Amino acid sequence: MTNRNQSNLNLENTYTTLPEIFYQKLNPNPVPAPKLVIYNKTLGDSLGLDSSYMTSEEGIQILAGNKMPWDTVPVAQAYAGHQFGHFTMLGDGRALLIGEQITPENERYDVQLKGAGETPYSRGGDGRAALGPMLREYIISEAMYHLSIPTTRGLAVITTGEEIERETELEGAILTRIADSHIRVGTFQFAAKYGELNDLIALADYTIDRHYPYVRSHSNPYLALLEEVIKRQAALIAQWQLVGFIHGVMNTDNMAISGETIDYGPCAFMDTYHQETVFSSIDVNGRYAYRNQPSIAAWNLARFAEAILPLLGSSKEAAVQTAQTAISQFGEQYERNWYAGMRAKLGIFNEEEGDASLIEKLLSMMQYYHADYTNTFLSLTFNHNENMPMAAAPDFQNWQAEWKERLKRQDESQAAVKELMQNSNPALIPRNQWVEKALEAAVQQQDYTVMEKLLHVLKNPYAHSAEQAAYAKQEFDTGQSFQTYCGT
Ligand code: AMP
Ligand code: MG
Repeated sequence: MTNRNQSNLNLENTYTTLPEIFYQKLNPNPVPAPKLVIYNKTLGDSLGLDSSYMTSEEGIQILAGNKMPWDTVPVAQAYAGHQFGHFTMLGDGRALLIGEQITPENERYDVQLKGAGETPYSRGGDGRAALGPMLREYIISEAMYHLSIPTTRGLAVITTGEEIERETELEGAILTRIADSHIRVGTFQFAAKYGELNDLIALADYTIDRHYPYVRSHSNPYLALLEEVIKRQAALIAQWQLVGFIHGVMNTDNMAISGETIDYGPCAFMDTYHQETVFSSIDVNGRYAYRNQPSIAAWNLARFAEAILPLLGSSKEAAVQTAQTAISQFGEQYERNWYAGMRAKLGIFNEEEGDASLIEKLLSMMQYYHADYTNTFLSLTFNHNENMPMAAAPDFQNWQAEWKERLKRQDESQAAVKELMQNSNPALIPRNQWVEKALEAAVQQQDYTVMEKLLHVLKNPYAHSAEQAAYAKQEFDTGQSFQTYCGT
């Protein structure tokens, strides 16, 4: 057992105050030879952890699940979810919540070990994770964080010294994941399906206390909870769309009630702009394609509303009506966020009715000319038409003239326009090829320098530094036939 004073881990276990159906207490399965491959010092410091301890032999034993801080109660969380539209009982099949870290600023974060071994929810799986997918989650969630998009983050990745069986033998790994919480739409679905009314109420109250305490003063706090979750998801999905992020597996168990991006599996950033882009090899019908993300989010939120229906009204009819009214606000809120973001990407400060068509025209040209999503907006920001495949096309030139006219119909200076565009269009996104190269070097050659360099240039995506430009130029190559595979 480890003394908390050394690690500065300051864990609480409020999740275990919920009714027992919501979790199973259990310790991680020990691993034979844990080795630290990456530690997120900035994140660790902000959590109040002692990095020299956490990266020491003893700290690594904690990150591997071989040793637990002395007074914590690890749990596997129960949840259900709609996977590709089909309802299933799930739960943490390979993850354990080891506790909630209370930071020096008195904030509370879940500390979870992903890949920590079998649990009662493993459904025949081995409870383990492979190094490549865990590093992938680490890289992409860091990129999302630095793009200012709400997300879980990786504190560390360790290898376990164990081979795990997939299509081939792979090196086992554990990701320490930090989240506002791991409460999912699927957690509520679980409560609604397998619990009593009191269980559902307990979960809703816990969620409110933890994430939305201000809704307590509302005449119906549970309706206010629904409305807040809708609001956060509308903002989140708009941010995804604006940077071209495709989650890949937006099942209801992968949607966090806190509004964070969670569960990076077959996700990827889009290079060439196309509305129908899908990366996931298992998403054969394109259910989770780029263009569908907003409507899928609304569908998932309707499942959330359905789960808490008994809390929304005195009669079922009244509750359904209330839920529908709330859900119907998602589309409008999403669009408001998305248009605000798109205007900013184009340097537009005020609003005009014609903006929607200006934006639409640009996007359909980008699709027609197979333009790179990120680089098109960068070229517009820095006036580098020569980088655009569509630069010489008359329809693009007409559009550009229309856009320039539009920019004149606002009071802001050219410098202000440029500044807004620089702050709204990232210099870099974690392109698939870059991520794959980094993973290949790490997994095949134990060479982490490629990954470290990538993480470094992704750190301040709105800086537009010479180093970032050089990196992008050197590494640029669009990958149109890229596929990602479920991170198992
Ligand atoms: P995901 O696709 O990662 O969102 O996972 C869906 C469900 O499968 C969750 O309940 C996971 O805990 C479970 N799962 C994924 N991989 C494994 C594994 N290797 N062993 C046991 N359960 C797993
Ligand atoms: Mg999941």
